[in-house]
Amino acid sequence: MKTIGVLTSGGDSPGMNAAIRAVVRSGIYNGCKIVGVKQGYHGLIKGYMEEMNLSSVADIIHRGGTMLQTARSEEFLTEEGRQKAMYAINIFGIDGLVVIGGDGSFKGAQKLNELGIPTIGLPGTIDNDLRYTEYTIGFDTAVNTVLDAIGRIRDTSASHGRANIIEVMGRHCGDIALYAGLAGGAESIIVPEVEFKIDQVCSKLIKGRNRGKLHSIILLAEGVGGAMEISKEIEEKTGIETRVTILGHIQRGGSPTAFDRILASKMGARAVELLLEGKKNRALGINGLEIIDVDFVDVFKQTDGFHQKTYDLANILSI
Ligand code: ATP
Repeated sequence: MKTIGVLTSGGDSPGMNAAIRAVVRSGIYNGCKIVGVKQGYHGLIKGYMEEMNLSSVADIIHRGGTMLQTARSEEFLTEEGRQKAMYAINIFGIDGLVVIGGDGSFKGAQKLNELGIPTIGLPGTIDNDLRYTEYTIGFDTAVNTVLDAIGRIRDTSASHGRANIIEVMGRHCGDIALYAGLAGGAESIIVPEVEFKIDQVCSKLIKGRNRGKLHSIILLAEGVGGAMEISKEIEEKTGIETRVTILGHIQRGGSPTAFDRILASKMGARAVELLLEGKKNRALGINGLEIIDVDFVDVFKQTDGFHQKTYDLANILSI
């Protein structure tokens, strides 16, 4: 293992830069040459690659986004596209590849393994939708961004005695809504994994108002949909003025939290170690405080892992 490639793929997440930095710096420390691939698998096919040095990754640990840029590549989904990527990999003499991205990116990395290039995956996605790991890189930052928004919305809601629905990211996985809701003391949390009953949401709002609450926050994961309809129904059933805020892409940006920087740094360095140990086809995760590595095959098997206990706790604490 002499030359290691690194790329970011799929949606960007805060902490990807810290992960790139860790791959580059620990790779160089271990005597490897590091090649940065721009624009994910698209850049791999096109040969958008250049050698990175210690200075290439200076001053990026605190920046959101990804200095290597990211992309989604239709062409890479085809056998022909992946053969083109292998051609570029061979031209640049890459012996192993670190892929930072979500489950789609991991599927691509697994396919590259089958074509003979060892790959290691780092979970870079704000959604926390990879169930083999307790945390993905960027999730903690996204939760903190939502928390900040909850605080601001609460100030204005309290002044007007309103309820607020805050729609956050998460198409299939409600973790951002769940964790930001628990940390922010939301009255109700609505996620795709649990069927919700509008009457329960309304009854909490009415009980809250009756004991003098000036505001109420409802966290809604985007995958559930229908924020405007839910808001209308709440107003009709409770008489409480209800506003909707859709947070959107601000959840993806911003400086990564200490947790995400540390997680990304540990995983980036571990990815290099694994490649140097001759390992391949593995994804990095965290369990407790320990960095773990799991075969891609097992990563894709674990689809169910909703944190029911956390959801129940949030409900108990918001009675
Ligand atoms: P996010 O969680 O942010 O959506 P992701 O990595 O899941 O990130 P995708 O768009 O699903 O994002 O995948 C990124 C890229 O990985 C795709 O554009 C495609 O090039 C490649 N990819 C996805 N699925 C596969 C697959 N089954 N086989 C080969 N390559 C794939």
